[in-house]
Amino acid sequence: MIETRTDAVFLNGRFHPGKGAPREAVNPATGEAFARFATATPDDVTTAAESAERAFGTWRRLPVSERARFLRGFASGLEARQEALIALQMRNNGKPRMEAEIDLGDAVACFRYYADLVEGGALDRGRVVLPDDGFSGRQVLEPYGPAALIVPWNFPLVTTAWKLAPALAAGCTALLKPSEFTTLAELAYGEIAQEIGLPEGVLSILPGEGAIGAAMLDAPQIRKVSFTGSNATGTRIMGAAAKRLLPVSLELGGKSPIVVLSDADIDAAAELVCGGVFFNAGQICSATSRLIVDEAVADDLIAALRTRIRKMAVGDPRGAIDMGPLTTMAQRDKVLGYLLTARSEGLDCLCGGTGAMGPGFFIEPTVYLDVPETSALWREEIFGPVLSVRRVKGDEAAIALANATDYGLAATVVGGDPVRANAVADRIDAGHVWVNTMQIIFPETSWGGFKASGIGRELGFGGLQGYAALKHITTPA
Ligand code: NAD
Repeated sequence: MIETRTDAVFLNGRFHPGKGAPREAVNPATGEAFARFATATPDDVTTAAESAERAFGTWRRLPVSERARFLRGFASGLEARQEALIALQMRNNGKPRMEAEIDLGDAVACFRYYADLVEGGALDRGRVVLPDDGFSGRQVLEPYGPAALIVPWNFPLVTTAWKLAPALAAGCTALLKPSEFTTLAELAYGEIAQEIGLPEGVLSILPGEGAIGAAMLDAPQIRKVSFTGSNATGTRIMGAAAKRLLPVSLELGGKSPIVVLSDADIDAAAELVCGGVFFNAGQICSATSRLIVDEAVADDLIAALRTRIRKMAVGDPRGAIDMGPLTTMAQRDKVLGYLLTARSEGLDCLCGGTGAMGPGFFIEPTVYLDVPETSALWREEIFGPVLSVRRVKGDEAAIALANATDYGLAATVVGGDPVRANAVADRIDAGHVWVNTMQIIFPETSWGGFKASGIGRELGFGGLQGYAALKHITTPA
């Protein structure tokens, strides 16, 4: 039976029936809808923006310890719903349990981190910066105002937490536009807001398609936009923001390299390569989908990959599996398009590549060898379980190839000598580089891309600065 959630629009501190066209939540392991939910209308966006502006005046002036208390309330509220949210993510996202746990656990950690950061004085209003004896100067971080937060479907809870926690911590109020594919989990933020008594208007949740996100950018009360998603949408958002000169943060796509040096341990490298591209069925912005391997170890690594991938179990996330389905049919079809391109280009397929496995949105782990640099499979973000491999001779060639991309979100370097591996990592143009580990992100660090992978940084102090402007106050001493 399909459950229906009509009160899916969170506005003015409570849930309201949505008058927008209803959407269905689909289980990608079966391809079947299991729930229906109402969506917001552009009028709801107007109401939410007005309400966010009204709330902003009080919210920004709350003692930092009060805002931190609400942030910790979000962390505890997520924990209290842990089992239900993990089950929902497995059902709606196709995530194996461990990946659903990471989405939730990282979101919890993010709220606690920003609570601690602001309580620890990150927004301290008294930082003296002027060296001049005749004047004193204070530096202050002031919240931008109501912020539009627009997020994708691949890690719904944590992608939102990385925006919502620093925005609220900085003193901004927020309008959240969840992905139309994974809205249900995100409604938990509204339930928690109610439970912890978050003041009216501090958070609104507006389910719907892209038009709702676009309407948020048109609302005159919005003073900041933070977007995570595809480069195509990011370009549109930046264009819309430019009309109003809105500050923008963009977390976009990637085509990240994993560089395996000649002194790498082969088993460790094979594990990092597989984890880096097959985690979440490759639907991670930081997927290391380009393997650049030194020719000295290439044959051994390729043999180890073949053995490892043959043992991978792909299936319904409720079973004992290594990889689930793609989250949406559209994403599955996009990846299938790349497999067809690979076939038409005559690429050397090590494994997978055979097409869809039904009835859900499954695709086998796929590896292509010696992929030409001109191939779309080498250059474009696929956002699926597809690895492209090239062999190089020496570290210089590996660095040059790693950087020969329009993107620059992340990278992994694998090598036996940590000094050498770190020297390679230093020269890779990417926002986050892992050495002999993969895809691990702590809230204290930073997240964001070089080049076409984005603008701005999330997490860490940089994440807080994304929602606040620097102000100086100068006074004669
Ligand atoms: P998408 O761009 O299709 O959608 C993202 C969000 O934008 C959705 O909520 C969507 O409804 C909304 N949207 C669509 N059109 C809009 C418009 N004109 N105005 C305002 N909002 C609009 O992306 P997706 O398919 O949901 O996510 C996959 C992409 O996200 C991949 O490219 C991936 O690399 C990227 N991503 C990046 C990061 C990062 O941190 N850099 C993290 C996760 C995902």
